Amino acid sequence: MRALCLHGARDLRLDEIPEPQLRPGTVKIKVEWSGICGSDLHNYADGQVPPGFVHPLVGEKGPHVQGHEFAGRVVECAPGVEGFPEGAVVAVEPLISCGTCAQCQRGHYNLCADFGFIGLMGGGGGMSEYVVVPAERVHRMPDGIGTDTAALVEPLAVAWHALRRANLRKGDSVVIIGGGPIGLCLLLAAKAWGAGFTAVSEVRAARRKAALDFGADLVIDPTERNVVEAVREHVPGGVAASFEASGIGTAAIGPLLGVLAKGGTAVNVAQGRAAEFHQSMLMVTEINLTGSLAYNGPDFPEVIAAVADGRLRPDALITARIPLEDAQQNGYEELLNGDGSHMKILIHP
Ligand SMILES: [Zn+2]
Ligand SMILES: [Zn+2]
Repeated sequence: MRALCLHGARDLRLDEIPEPQLRPGTVKIKVEWSGICGSDLHNYADGQVPPGFVHPLVGEKGPHVQGHEFAGRVVECAPGVEGFPEGAVVAVEPLISCGTCAQCQRGHYNLCADFGFIGLMGGGGGMSEYVVVPAERVHRMPDGIGTDTAALVEPLAVAWHALRRANLRKGDSVVIIGGGPIGLCLLLAAKAWGAGFTAVSEVRAARRKAALDFGADLVIDPTERNVVEAVREHVPGGVAASFEASGIGTAAIGPLLGVLAKGGTAVNVAQGRAAEFHQSMLMVTEINLTGSLAYNGPDFPEVIAAVADGRLRPDALITARIPLEDAQQNGYEELLNGDGSHMKILIHP
């Protein structure tokens, strides 16, 4: 079958590889759509997971198939696996975890000692015709939801988990630093949770427009306006939760903490530059500063339920649909070098 594999930094190749075979407890899926994620771009640009990398739980040498935000249709299941009829639309939760370490035992398998991602570190990936994954990582979509929408569940679950990390409650006000795909997923998810006032800070015009279209109450260009002042004009006491989705380091941490009410929670959801800030403010404000990694337990099911009942309408995140052979040029390179007008580019393998 055809598969897009990473052979090194900026070296993606469309390889012919053997079709994956069912193992005990797995489901075989014909992939229909696979999104390109920020972590895919980091990996592509820097070759973070080199072809020689062997994940201890997967045991596969590279070049590794790419794509961890994917959905498709069930082809067949291993004996004893039930609930996935042939042709059913499914989204995949692409986490690799051991199931036995202390964190896995508590259900925090996103914090597994041997944590990894299918589609980055082996175990197949969404940028190939077929993939075989453990049944407990396969989520069936309700009737009427397409495989394209299903491919958006993964980034939405990243946002959903971050809202849980903030203990967000109905009516809470929210500020999001960075209006890229994860920032916009945070905005959509916050609104689905019933957040009150929402604000997004973003330098690129195309993304500010997208944030407005997605219903942000306030959109700020941080090169033109002081984010803390702009937010506090609307919410004088400060907001309940703020999210860092820009990765710009020190320039983000000031507004991230400065917009919060005393006792509020800031959640870092970004990979990026280091940030410098004065930790004394955590003492005088009892602000919680924490992080959020991927998702676990209820995140995928809750996102799928919100998509099914219409609280989450994410399809406008999809800005292009391209075939596998165009993925490097019109997908990865376009996202790295473009003007920021693309949100999610979906690849059809
Ligand atoms: Zn991702
Ligand atoms: Zn574990």
